[in-house]
Amino acid sequence: MIITVASGKGGTGKTTVAVNLALSIGPTKLLDCDVEEPNVHTLLHPVEIQTTPVTVPTPVVDQEKCTLCGKCAEFCQFNAIFVGKTKTMVFNEMCHSCGGCAIVCPDDAITEVPRAIGNIHQSTIGDTHLVFGELSIGEPIATTLIHAVKEHIEPDMINILDAPPGTACPVIETMRESDFLVLVTEPTPFGLHDLSMAVDVVRGLDIPLGVIINRAGIGDDGVEKYCKQEGIPIILEIPFDRHIAELYSRGVPFAQEMPEWLQRFKDLYIHIERMIHNGK
Ligand code: SF4
Ligand code: SF4
Repeated sequence: MIITVASGKGGTGKTTVAVNLALSIGPTKLLDCDVEEPNVHTLLHPVEIQTTPVTVPTPVVDQEKCTLCGKCAEFCQFNAIFVGKTKTMVFNEMCHSCGGCAIVCPDDAITEVPRAIGNIHQSTIGDTHLVFGELSIGEPIATTLIHAVKEHIEPDMINILDAPPGTACPVIETMRESDFLVLVTEPTPFGLHDLSMAVDVVRGLDIPLGVIINRAGIGDDGVEKYCKQEGIPIILEIPFDRHIAELYSRGVPFAQEMPEWLQRFKDLYIHIERMIHNGK
């Protein structure tokens, strides 16, 4: 099973929901797909971390063989190759590693070499197997590394994915193949605005979804009204609570210190399972 926890913007408590849910339901895989700013590990404090570099094939042009015919640049949809008057250049940061330019080159002038774009880290903390990606600084394309993190999904286990914030490509890449989407929001006009944007995007994916209201009690009832109107179930409310906030600021998942929340997250998981089963 794959449950993805997302939110329309950062700072809503998405990561804390993903971590507390994982810690409450026994053996899980927790995959942090926010490869530009992974922070699940800051709540789990892994001690032993196994790191594997992730590379992508990147074209290199042999200028001796290149006849400047222009076929590679014509083929590349990402404008990652420029054929000048005397030289053909590859812009790595725009290349999507499709391999097409090497195939269309009539003079065998293009070879592909591996280029490191980041790392995958893994660690086991109690019953939780954590996997998180870390994109190298300056690498603009996050989706390849997200895909590499998702290769660690275990179909026979409960997999909880912490999505990047927002509604752009990396979020969609994370959500694909999920069985259920959890959208975390705050009960404020800003929260509602970001939630409605996220809902507009995820509706197209046709995956059952539910909303968690974090810091419930701080704002108004706009989110509740919106969810009712859109037929989206509110599956949990986490109140604005000084103790929870203190634990969060100390990097402690609150369900670990507040046992009643372990049970609430367990119940939440059972509720999600039922909703998946019922196709809602
Ligand atoms: S591998 Fe694909 S994306 Fe990269 S330069 Fe070649 S054609 Fe363009
Ligand atoms: S297709 Fe090959 S030969 Fe033609 S410009 Fe590109 S690298 Fe050079």
